Amino acid sequence: MLTDNPTSVASRKARTAGQILGTAVKRDTIYDRILSAVMEHRLIPGTRLVEEKLAAVFEVNRTRIREVLARLAHEGVVTTIPNRGAFVASPSVEEARHIFHARRILEPALIRSLVAQINEDLLSQLYDHVAQERSAREQGDKRAVIRLSGEFHLLIAEMVGSPPLLKLMRELSSLTCLIILLYDSPNVPACPNHEHSLIIEAIEKRDADQAVDLLITHLDHIEATLDLSVGEEQEVDLHEIFG
Ligand SMILES: [Zn+2]
Repeated sequence: MLTDNPTSVASRKARTAGQILGTAVKRDTIYDRILSAVMEHRLIPGTRLVEEKLAAVFEVNRTRIREVLARLAHEGVVTTIPNRGAFVASPSVEEARHIFHARRILEPALIRSLVAQINEDLLSQLYDHVAQERSAREQGDKRAVIRLSGEFHLLIAEMVGSPPLLKLMRELSSLTCLIILLYDSPNVPACPNHEHSLIIEAIEKRDADQAVDLLITHLDHIEATLDLSVGEEQEVDLHEIFG
């Protein structure tokens, strides 16, 4: 036979498309899991991310890991050092100040956009989120508290519905997690819970100025807990974290 029959070609094409899609999904999953580990402080600044170990943990080839690490490096979450490899980034105090400065510019704009389009559905999602934060706090689930605190700010960006602004907020949020881990007192939660509630109440009243004032106060509180202690390079068991 000179040609494959159409069915097998079609099914092979479908299979190939499925494999490509599967590869993309896998890549996104690995990216999400590494980023979550950073956000939840299971992977701390200075941790070496060994390509071959990650490849073994996620059961993919090293090329796939390299792609994920390149994306994280592009976003500032990972630093690559020639001949040494990739490490979870350790933002300096100066970089930390820049990140808070950027958040003070970006987030008020997001809050104002959200106030302009707020409705019952969005409000209930915001209140639900804060309820989750509160219950994580009550249960003493520190990892969840850290993750949910950061996600509150991302949720606002998601609701505004601008992909480029959401991308910026994601990057700033990941870097803030690293900064909090590096420079915060170990037992201070990322965001005081009641401050999120106050921001939502102002949004509900459609009082953009008050919501922005509360947000700035909130960012001030987070930044005020920073100190100058520096993280150290750590050896960690990647299998334990992702296994
Ligand atoms: Zn917050």
